[in-house]
Amino acid sequence: MGLFKIDERLNLKADKALEISRDAFRYIDEVTEYNQQKVLKAFIDNGVSESHFAASTGYGYNDRGRDTLERVFADCMGAESSIFRHSFASGTHTLTVALFGILRPGDTMLCLTGRPYDTLIGVLGIDGHVDGSLKDFGVNYEQVDLKSDGRPNLEAIEQKIKSKKYAVAYIQRSKGYSLRPSLSVAEIGEMAKLVKKISPETVVMVDNCYGEFVETREPTEVGADLIAGSLIKNPGGGIAPTGGYIAGKKELVEKCGYRLTAPGVGTEVGASLGHTRELYMGLFSAPHVVGEALKTAVFTAALFTELGFDVTPKFDEKRADIIQTVKAGTPEGLIAFCQGLQSGSPVDSFASPVPDDMPGYDSQVIMAAGAFTLGASIELSADAPLREPFAVWMQGGLNFHSAKVGIMLAAERMLKEGLIENI
Ligand SMILES: *Cc1c(COP(=O)(O)O)cnc(C)c1O
Repeated sequence: MGLFKIDERLNLKADKALEISRDAFRYIDEVTEYNQQKVLKAFIDNGVSESHFAASTGYGYNDRGRDTLERVFADCMGAESSIFRHSFASGTHTLTVALFGILRPGDTMLCLTGRPYDTLIGVLGIDGHVDGSLKDFGVNYEQVDLKSDGRPNLEAIEQKIKSKKYAVAYIQRSKGYSLRPSLSVAEIGEMAKLVKKISPETVVMVDNCYGEFVETREPTEVGADLIAGSLIKNPGGGIAPTGGYIAGKKELVEKCGYRLTAPGVGTEVGASLGHTRELYMGLFSAPHVVGEALKTAVFTAALFTELGFDVTPKFDEKRADIIQTVKAGTPEGLIAFCQGLQSGSPVDSFASPVPDDMPGYDSQVIMAAGAFTLGASIELSADAPLREPFAVWMQGGLNFHSAKVGIMLAAERMLKEGLIENI
């Protein structure tokens, strides 16, 4: 069975990959079911109704749909309060609003997880002058590097926190585009506890991108004061057209609201312009879609292990986010993987990605994304910088059956170009 032309040897490997993924799939189903109930219950508890989908315009005063949605999302995250809006332009914008919301001139922020995600470097202003960065506004930055195994250095964190007063302790949950392991919610809880034990007034903030609904708990349920993320990743369920969220302690979320709109005004304003229904639908679907993306990642790990490639995480490892890396080993391997994956996308399947220079990268980058929403990485997508160790970072998949085709076509392309030896 199958409408796509796949080498028979690859199909056999895929069957084997599915078989060895069975336990991981069962676990994903359990987590999905729990999180889906959590979201459904939040909808019911907050009395979500058809009238909440109405559009507001202008100032957006008394937008019940928007306000209820933000209570629903706060409940889903086990948080006191949240902002969940289309008016955030990206994840980076959302994190920027949160950081500018809670930090003041003279404050120092301490990153507990080494160098942050690429786009945050300019926000913090840590690699030379960037106009309007936190540094420009008198906020200092320090970091604790990860240990050589990519894990947080708890002893060094403890010493730092004891050494002086930090306004914010910042944790990045996902590996982003590094090869370190992503952090589990339990590990984040341990770090939050450590910080709070020494310095209760330090705000623990988590970049939660790619982590939402991967586990049954969120960082806000284990001691984090504030979390933020993107709606074109996990919590938008592949339906949110754009946006971001901030959730956590009420007084902190309020400060972020003053930065999002205006001091003293906060989240009372902000027209929904008719996007509310999509945001409700996306949040409602998010646990299921995250489950599909996780199955896609597990299947990819299993298949490429069968084909003799190094992958992180392994197919049977506990996951903390939806990202899967595959070490293709050669530039040709990366290019074939991305081109094959693109050819199995529902949108722009006819396009062929090629490596190109990207701002902020010291090597060329190739990206595959045939998505309904521009740049949405909850949809099947892959990125790879053309440098050692020639690894591709892939993530997303709105539904496993479609995403599986994308992965199979990636492998098929590599096979056809003679880039798979172990078959
Ligand atoms: C995606 C992501 C961001 C934000 O990126 P945008 O592209 O601006 O949405 C920040 N941190 C991490 C770890 C991410 O994965």
